[in-house]
This record gives sequence, structure tokens and C-alpha cells, in this order.
Amino acid sequence: MNQSLEPALGILPLGRVGGEMIQAVAGAFAGEIGMALRVLPGLGPPAYAFDRHRIQYDAARIISRIESMDIDGCARVMALVDVDLFVPVFTFVFGEARQGGRVALVSLFRLESRPERAVKIALHEFGHLCMLDHCRESRCVMNFAKGLGQLDRVATYYCRYCLSQVNYMAGL
Ligand SMILES: [Zn+2]
Ligand SMILES: [Zn+2]
Repeated sequence: MNQSLEPALGILPLGRVGGEMIQAVAGAFAGEIGMALRVLPGLGPPAYAFDRHRIQYDAARIISRIESMDIDGCARVMALVDVDLFVPVFTFVFGEARQGGRVALVSLFRLESRPERAVKIALHEFGHLCMLDHCRESRCVMNFAKGLGQLDRVATYYCRYCLSQVNYMAGL
């Protein structure tokens, strides 16, 4: 018998992350992608990534830290944080992931406690983990959203093209 583990996605809360946010994100992946999900025990806020000049948290440092952790049985990790994130070229980001990487980040900080926004960002960043780039379909969740207005205009799902790529990659 082949006993190899399914490629699970771990959902990792960092800091104060409400249960409704975790449930919303977990539910979206269960519905949209159908891969095994594991909600991981939460960790403290990412104080190591605080930038005192920007008064924000460095997304790349958080991703590197989680990548260095040994998270049992999870092919990929979706971390949810309650702090404001930046990458050097943007004033803020809703989320971050390296294309083809193992760890994605979602910041709840600017979402005004709206779970469907967290779902969109999580699906978007997961698409990057699955090698997707931004999509030209205006409603596709892989369409790039700079602000809440644009985020609210995209759907909470992938277009057919992006979904087929995600389904293909999620199984690997
Ligand atoms: Zn993106
Ligand atoms: Zn698309």
C-alpha cells in the first residue's frame, strides 16, 4: 500500500487571529481546491519582523522564518497575521508569497474584519505558490488588487484557467 501523505495545506495563525477568519479561509480551500487541510497550533505575533522605521512588519522575514520551521506533513503553509505587512516596493501588502514557494502570508490588518476579503487574499497568494502570475480576467481572484476597492471587485474564486493550474499544482 502506498502510505505517502496527501499534500496538505497547513493554516497557521500568528498573533491574535479570530476563529471566524480561520474557518472562512479553511472553508474556501475545502470548497475550491479540495486538498487536505490542517489548522496548526497558533504562534505568537512575529515581533522579529517589526521594522521600527516603517512601523510595519517585513513580509519576507516572516516567510523565511516559517520556511525554516519543520511543519509536519504540510506541503504548503498559509499563515494568517493580524499585523500590517510591507515589502520594500509597496507601502503595504494584503499578502505575500513567492511564486512556487511553500509559505504564503495573509494580513488581516486592513480588512476591517471581513472574512471574504481574507479568503480572496488567501486564494490569491495560494495561486502564487502554485506558480500562477497575475490574471487579466477582471473577476478572477488572481487579478492584482492594490486596494480594498479592487479587492472587493474580484470574485472569491479562480477563473477556469487559473483553477486548472491550481488543481494541477496542488496535487504535487
Ligand atoms: Zn499577487
Ligand atoms: Zn485567472
